[in-house]
Amino acid sequence: MHDYDVIVIGAGGAGMMCAIQAGKKGRRVALLDHGLKIGAKILISGGGRCNFTNLGTGPENYVSNNPHFAKSALSRFGPQDFLRLIKEHSIPYHEKKLGQLFCDHSAQDIVNLLQAECEQAGAKFFLEQNITAIEKNDRFAVKTLNETFTCRSLVIATGGLSIPKVGATDFGYRVAKQFGLSIVETHPALDGFRFKPADLKRFGDLQGVATDSIVTCNDASFRENILFTHMGLSGPAALQASLYWHKDNPIQINFVPKLPKDKLEKWFLDCKKQGSKSEMKTLLKEWLPARLADKLCALELPEKANIHTMQDKKIKDFCEKIQKYELSPESTVGYSKAEVTRGGINTDELSSRTMECKKIPGLYFIGEVVDVTGWLGGYNFQWAWASGHAAGEAV
Ligand SMILES: Cc1cc2nc3c(=O)[nH]c(=O)nc-3n(C[C@H](O)[C@H](O)[C@H](O)COP(=O)(O)OP(=O)(O)OC[C@H]3O[C@@H](n4cnc5c(N)ncnc54)[C@H](O)[C@@H]3O)c2cc1C
Repeated sequence: MHDYDVIVIGAGGAGMMCAIQAGKKGRRVALLDHGLKIGAKILISGGGRCNFTNLGTGPENYVSNNPHFAKSALSRFGPQDFLRLIKEHSIPYHEKKLGQLFCDHSAQDIVNLLQAECEQAGAKFFLEQNITAIEKNDRFAVKTLNETFTCRSLVIATGGLSIPKVGATDFGYRVAKQFGLSIVETHPALDGFRFKPADLKRFGDLQGVATDSIVTCNDASFRENILFTHMGLSGPAALQASLYWHKDNPIQINFVPKLPKDKLEKWFLDCKKQGSKSEMKTLLKEWLPARLADKLCALELPEKANIHTMQDKKIKDFCEKIQKYELSPESTVGYSKAEVTRGGINTDELSSRTMECKKIPGLYFIGEVVDVTGWLGGYNFQWAWASGHAAGEAV
């Protein structure tokens, strides 16, 4: 029998941050994980370099049934607080774009930092633990195949469902159900889209084409690259839009974001006025990769559409179409590829200051398992650090 003040289940970013903070406050902390190693998702993040925070993080960068929930934790542990740790550990880093901070060398630097801080705070790791039951009397009892761990405060930090092959499970949601807590329906997010068969037929041969665009879904718009794949659409702008996508929703793609709506039409009309006799697809290549320009013209214009024979109204309609191109994806790719899980433990069940369950004193949920999901760009780790820190202060 092992007795601790605090048991954290899940040695990912959120769990380790919570253990560090609780340990610093003098709590006796155990971290349990079923994996062979700690921080498995950190190691595969950001292409192996971990985009560990975003300098511009704010509550508006998160999707949750309660858009205010993340405010408290983020305001008490922000990007600069994590950056302070990075500097203390002399980890070389750089800003890639849009406030996104990455390690120069390897995501292993982040895992090493967290491990060192956990050890310094006295937290103990127990890996390869197969947890079979959780019981609550005056204390919590966490039963594994061979042992029982008891504690006053139990923190669930087991993450979401994305990438089962690195150890993702539905453990956190099962614990929530056991204790009668409600869950906001979960979906794969920050994920590529699969096209419907008809659209795959039309666009499938564009596989490998990438272009700057604005993708809009349910009023959220993101300007970054999109990438056509063998099954649909990927690239950062598509991944971001997936965070807002629900079954049967359309997405709109502006393929020419460099020009405001009326300016593209004006540009074509100026070409016509200046006596151009070029094909539309040749002109469009000024703005788009050749294969995409050919494709959009083939789909949306008559064969051999030359600018000098096109009516102005037809030019206007074409410009409007390609700057608001509507597609209705079949689905997203799924948890095997999605970076995160949208939805999770309903924030109504938790204190936004401490992450403790309102109905079950002593039980906490932190990180991705909670219904707070960040944009692509370092926001999800910032939530893991902030929510872990908030719970660590409270346990
Ligand atoms: C490919 C990829 C790249 C990403 N890149 C970035 C990025 O660059 N920047 C960013 O901000 N976000 C990124 N993310 C998202 C980010 O990794 C997660 O949001 C973050 O790791 C969540 O932290 P967490 O501690 O809540 O959960 P996790 O990191 O998932 O940790 C959960 C822990 O719980 C353990 N666990 C699960 N089930 C059980 C169980 N039944 N028993 C015991 N232990 C269990 C797991 O082994 C794991 O160690 C990426 C995600 C993926 C998949």
